[in-house]
Amino acid sequence: MITANAVTPQPAPTGNGCTTARAAMAVLMLAVAALAGCSPQPPYRERLYAFGTVVEVTLYGLDEARARAATEALHEKLRTWHRQWHPWQGDGLARINRALAAGRTTEVPPALSELIRRARRLEQASGERFSPGIGALVRLWGFDRGTALPKRPPPDTAIDAVLADSPRLADLELGDGTLRSDGTAVQIDLGAFAKGVAVNRALTLLREHGARAALVSMGGDIGAFGRPAERPWRIGIRAPRGEGLLAAATLEAGEVIFTSGDYERYFEHDGIRYHHLLDPASGRPARDTRSVTVIADDAALADAAATALFVAGPGEWQTVARDLGVRRVLLVDDNGGVHTTRAMLERIGFEQTPPPPLVEEATW
Ligand code: ADP
Ligand code: MG
Repeated sequence: MITANAVTPQPAPTGNGCTTARAAMAVLMLAVAALAGCSPQPPYRERLYAFGTVVEVTLYGLDEARARAATEALHEKLRTWHRQWHPWQGDGLARINRALAAGRTTEVPPALSELIRRARRLEQASGERFSPGIGALVRLWGFDRGTALPKRPPPDTAIDAVLADSPRLADLELGDGTLRSDGTAVQIDLGAFAKGVAVNRALTLLREHGARAALVSMGGDIGAFGRPAERPWRIGIRAPRGEGLLAAATLEAGEVIFTSGDYERYFEHDGIRYHHLLDPASGRPARDTRSVTVIADDAALADAAATALFVAGPGEWQTVARDLGVRRVLLVDDNGGVHTTRAMLERIGFEQTPPPPLVEEATW
């Protein structure tokens, strides 16, 4: 079972005797291993570690040597992207953040400025619920330190001091190969977006290496193409509380599935859960939501949208989803109630008996 996030892959049941695994979905990776025997050629699987998380690669249609070469090439790329996009370490984005903090104009390589521009468009489209200029806030909360978690929330005065500058990517001036900001408050943290970009690129790379079908899971955020043995990919969506699955989803060709949850990275203090998904408006962990799962055609969009819709919460997710152009959304609120869209219900079936209470079903 992938522990980092919400989803784990397995081929959809076909009724041909290969898949009797519904009950076994709680122990998904075992089920996948068993099912592989039904395909004409078993898939090649490998686990990598990148972006601070487990990356699982499943490849169909390549012999072992070519599959291994493809996976190695992918691993190399993931390491490079992680280095370039790390907000605090190294000479990529971290160098830019140092310059921003010092109020200096700095050079930005085209690849990075393209990424920042896309993030900025998504920031705007999400009404600043997804706002990757809040790196200072992420650091203040202590969610920037890999696996080490803070023990208590920062003082209100410190949060208010950051909020007073209202850092946002919109404040950046991106010129021809240069970047500057009026103040020194913006610190770029692409943590809610980078895995999506990486999944998009990973799928392209694996296609170029000749895979017929492939699935990449980065900490449970998943993209895939092709079909395993003519069946669509089937993905388990983890329940945000307790063990096991909330639902199982079917991915059509070209679709990805991303989840943001309050169970990913959090600490408790005085009985209150403080998690890593910050509401840029309040400077504090977003309230009223446990998890948001998005199915979309583009992983970068899905990643940013899952975070944005988590922040938007039960009251505003519909508006933000429409503004972002995302149709398949599953939001679990703080009472365990489900808010979703008809388009999402076409893709998922609940795996709990009784199913969770359906609070809202948007028909668009
Ligand atoms: P995960 O990385 O666990 O899948 P997300 O994709 O939602 O979760 O990204 C969360 C990370 O994004 C945080 O650790 C933080 O670095 C950053 N972040 C937190 N809140 C926001 C926000 N409102 N907008 C943009 N980035 C955020
Ligand atoms: Mg995200």
